[in-house]
Amino acid sequence: MKYEAVIGLEVHAQLLTDSKLFCGCSTKFGSDPNTQVCQICLGMPGVLPVLNRKAVEYAVKMALAVNCKVNHKSVFARKNYFYPDLPKGYQISQYNEPLTEKGFLDIDLEAGRKRIGITRIHMEEDAGKLLHGEGIEDANYSFVDLNRTGVPLIEIVSEPDMRTSEEAQAYLRALRDILVYLEICSGNMEEGSFRCDANVSIRPVGAEKLGTKAELKNMNSFKFVKEAIDYEIQRQIDIVENGGKVVQETRLFDSAKGITASMRSKEEAHDYRYFPEPDLLPLFVEDKLIEDCRSKLPELPQQKRERFISEYGIPAYDAGVLTATKELAHYYESVVKATGEPKLSSNWIMGELLRLLKEDNKDVKDCPITPEAIASLIEMVKKGEISGKMAKEVFEDMYKTGKAPAEIVKSKGMSQISNEDELGKIIEGIIAANPENAERYRAGKVQLMGFFVGETMKATKGQANPGVVNKILKQKLG
Ligand code: ADP
Ligand code: MG
Ligand code: ZN
Repeated sequence: MKYEAVIGLEVHAQLLTDSKLFCGCSTKFGSDPNTQVCQICLGMPGVLPVLNRKAVEYAVKMALAVNCKVNHKSVFARKNYFYPDLPKGYQISQYNEPLTEKGFLDIDLEAGRKRIGITRIHMEEDAGKLLHGEGIEDANYSFVDLNRTGVPLIEIVSEPDMRTSEEAQAYLRALRDILVYLEICSGNMEEGSFRCDANVSIRPVGAEKLGTKAELKNMNSFKFVKEAIDYEIQRQIDIVENGGKVVQETRLFDSAKGITASMRSKEEAHDYRYFPEPDLLPLFVEDKLIEDCRSKLPELPQQKRERFISEYGIPAYDAGVLTATKELAHYYESVVKATGEPKLSSNWIMGELLRLLKEDNKDVKDCPITPEAIASLIEMVKKGEISGKMAKEVFEDMYKTGKAPAEIVKSKGMSQISNEDELGKIIEGIIAANPENAERYRAGKVQLMGFFVGETMKATKGQANPGVVNKILKQKLG
């Protein structure tokens, strides 16, 4: 029997508002524990939440970016459960009337484009954080930090439209890129600002009915998402092949062991005793807010990629790399403007610049090389003043010192010899010193061209322009 996997993702994205969803506390990451809390986010009796308008705008922007319908009326609901990091005993979320629903996201795979349905995007508040075990003050205790309590989240729920871990990864990356382009989420998985639960089931290929799913949690990198899903698919196939049944449950991924392990049996919606939040009015979103948000949407990653391909004629691969962030894409466009050379500019940025930035763990906004400097470097290579190899060395110096390429070439005495008379004399000397090889070349052993090029390079300490050398050698030997 052949099986296929069915995967649906629930993604939580922390919104980059300055204050929390229902109070004025700061959302800043990494502050001392429990310094960003107040009566409201601590859930003291009798306090009243007030909705953060900016968070609503951010959620609407995301909804529009993934083609969701924004509901004019939505309702906040209490989701009741007990957690030590949830002092209220309930989380304010949205349930049967979410802010937005029914969208889709197109993802690009090697096999082509695939549309993934988005069921809904709703707003909710984050819970606090528990710290236990090693690395904290006293490993015998667990600690709770409530700074995160009440930080705004959107939960983006997909349809069960994915079939492989690669598709899930591509979907997640595309979602994250959009959130970061919109500047509404940092997208940082390690800090937990962008989190994903994966629902996985299997069914015989060709079957319509969905199998029983397991929900996977605790995957804080794209790599772990893939590993966890792949492990889980195989685990379920093994169960079914051995005559067993998959049980519905929540499983935790253990990244050290590369396995998923049962955490708890899956709770059902009715376990949460959802009911409309009595302290908040229904949320009414007017058309004006939606249209304002729509008019502020930036060019999104996929649109930018497509425009780069059609406008600059660069390969899809280049376009993908260059649009990885808005800042990099902007830098690339400024370089093209300065050089008039889309593909050469792409080569310099993808090949050299990104390598250097990565070595230093830096971002393109820290890049000291101006677009104009890259333009003059390309110009010098074109004119034959320096070789391509020299240019790479110059580029590294430009990166380290921020100096102009001409200045670096001059101070290093690096210029290339392109003068035909000068090279002609040197080459005549080399031919005269190697009469047998010249004879053999003329008799048809054309591979000896390499030998003469090598000798010329040696004689000029690598400074001869290879194009000119080849041309003169052909004349003089031919
Ligand atoms: P629950 O109520 O258990 O949270 P939902 O219906 O809300 O389940 O779905 C949660 C997520 O699980 C969604 O992303 C959905 O696409 C996905 N999902 C639902 N059923 C399955 C299934 N049988 N296999 C894989 N994913 C599923
Ligand atoms: Mg769910
Ligand atoms: Zn607060």
